[in-house]
Amino acid sequence: MTNAWDERKQALENEYFHREEKKKIERMRQSSEDQTVRQYCHNRCPKCGDAIEPVTFRGVPLDRCPGCGGVWLGPNDLQILAEKDHRTWFDKWFRQEEGEAEEEIAS
Ligand SMILES: [Zn+2]
Repeated sequence: MTNAWDERKQALENEYFHREEKKKIERMRQSSEDQTVRQYCHNRCPKCGDAIEPVTFRGVPLDRCPGCGGVWLGPNDLQILAEKDHRTWFDKWFRQEEGEAEEEIAS
Protein backbone atom coordinates (compact mmCIF):
# COMPACT_ATOMS: atom_id res chain seq x y z
CA MET A 1 0.00 0.00 0.00
CA THR A 2 1.29 3.47 -0.86
CA ASN A 3 0.98 6.35 1.48
CA ALA A 4 1.36 10.08 0.89
CA TRP A 5 5.06 9.94 1.81
CA ASP A 6 5.82 7.26 -0.82
CA GLU A 7 3.96 9.26 -3.44
CA ARG A 8 5.94 12.37 -2.53
CA LYS A 9 9.21 10.41 -2.76
CA GLN A 10 8.21 9.09 -6.18
CA ALA A 11 7.32 12.58 -7.38
CA LEU A 12 10.68 13.99 -6.21
CA GLU A 13 12.51 11.15 -7.96
CA ASN A 14 10.61 11.75 -11.18
CA GLU A 15 11.35 15.45 -10.98
CA TYR A 16 15.06 14.74 -10.46
CA PHE A 17 15.29 12.45 -13.51
CA HIS A 18 13.29 14.91 -15.59
CA ARG A 19 15.77 17.68 -14.70
CA GLU A 20 18.79 15.46 -15.44
CA GLU A 21 17.33 14.50 -18.82
CA LYS A 22 16.70 18.14 -19.69
CA LYS A 23 20.34 18.97 -18.83
CA LYS A 24 21.57 16.09 -20.99
CA ILE A 25 19.43 17.20 -23.95
CA GLU A 26 20.70 20.79 -23.55
CA ARG A 27 24.33 19.57 -23.61
CA MET A 28 23.68 17.48 -26.74
CA ARG A 29 21.98 20.41 -28.46
CA GLN A 30 24.89 22.72 -27.58
CA SER A 31 27.55 20.33 -28.88
CA SER A 32 25.73 19.74 -32.18
CA GLU A 33 25.32 23.50 -32.54
CA ASP A 34 29.08 23.97 -31.98
CA GLN A 35 29.79 21.32 -34.61
CA THR A 36 27.52 23.02 -37.12
CA VAL A 37 29.13 26.42 -36.49
CA ARG A 38 32.64 24.94 -36.91
CA GLN A 39 31.58 23.18 -40.09
CA TYR A 40 30.15 26.36 -41.62
CA CYS A 41 32.90 28.70 -40.42
CA HIS A 42 35.85 26.55 -41.49
CA ASN A 43 38.07 28.68 -43.78
CA ARG A 44 35.54 31.52 -43.69
CA CYS A 45 36.16 35.14 -42.77
CA PRO A 46 34.83 35.92 -39.26
CA LYS A 47 33.99 39.46 -40.39
CA CYS A 48 32.13 39.06 -43.69
CA GLY A 49 31.79 35.29 -44.13
CA ASP A 50 33.64 35.05 -47.48
CA ALA A 51 35.87 32.06 -48.16
CA ILE A 52 39.42 33.01 -47.18
CA GLU A 53 42.29 32.17 -49.49
CA PRO A 54 45.92 31.35 -48.71
CA VAL A 55 48.47 33.96 -49.85
CA THR A 56 52.22 34.22 -49.37
CA PHE A 57 53.53 37.55 -48.12
CA ARG A 58 57.34 37.90 -47.93
CA GLY A 59 57.65 34.14 -47.77
CA VAL A 60 55.13 33.80 -44.95
CA PRO A 61 51.93 31.89 -45.70
CA LEU A 62 48.89 33.91 -44.58
CA ASP A 63 45.13 33.74 -45.05
CA ARG A 64 43.44 36.65 -46.80
CA CYS A 65 39.77 37.46 -47.30
CA PRO A 66 38.93 38.63 -50.85
CA GLY A 67 35.69 40.15 -49.56
CA CYS A 68 36.91 42.63 -46.92
CA GLY A 69 40.70 42.39 -47.26
CA GLY A 70 41.22 41.01 -43.75
CA VAL A 71 44.41 39.03 -43.14
CA TRP A 72 44.95 36.23 -40.65
CA LEU A 73 48.32 35.35 -39.20
CA GLY A 74 49.36 32.05 -37.67
CA PRO A 75 50.79 31.86 -34.13
CA ASN A 76 54.38 32.74 -35.17
CA ASP A 77 53.73 34.70 -38.37
CA LEU A 78 53.75 38.14 -36.73
CA GLN A 79 57.20 37.53 -35.27
CA ILE A 80 58.53 36.03 -38.54
CA LEU A 81 57.32 39.08 -40.48
CA ALA A 82 58.78 41.49 -37.91
CA GLU A 83 62.18 39.76 -38.07
CA LYS A 84 62.22 39.98 -41.86
CA ASP A 85 62.37 43.78 -41.87
CA HIS A 86 64.35 45.55 -39.15
CA ARG A 87 63.72 49.11 -40.34
CA THR A 88 59.97 49.41 -40.07
CA TRP A 89 57.81 50.89 -37.35
CA PHE A 90 56.26 47.47 -37.18
CA ASP A 91 59.49 45.93 -35.96
CA LYS A 92 60.17 48.79 -33.55
CA TRP A 93 56.73 48.40 -32.08
CA PHE A 94 57.06 44.67 -31.79
CA ARG A 95 60.51 44.83 -30.13
CA GLN A 96 59.27 47.48 -27.72
CA GLU A 97 56.49 45.11 -26.66
CA GLU A 98 59.01 42.32 -26.16
CA GLY A 99 61.31 44.62 -24.18
CA GLU A 100 58.47 45.57 -21.86
CA ALA A 101 57.63 41.92 -21.35
CA GLU A 102 61.25 41.10 -20.46
CA GLU A 103 61.40 43.98 -18.00
CA GLU A 104 58.32 42.64 -16.30
CA ILE A 105 59.89 39.20 -15.96
CA ALA A 106 63.18 40.67 -14.61
CA SER A 107 61.51 42.75 -11.89
ZN1 LIG B 1 36.06 39.22 -44.93
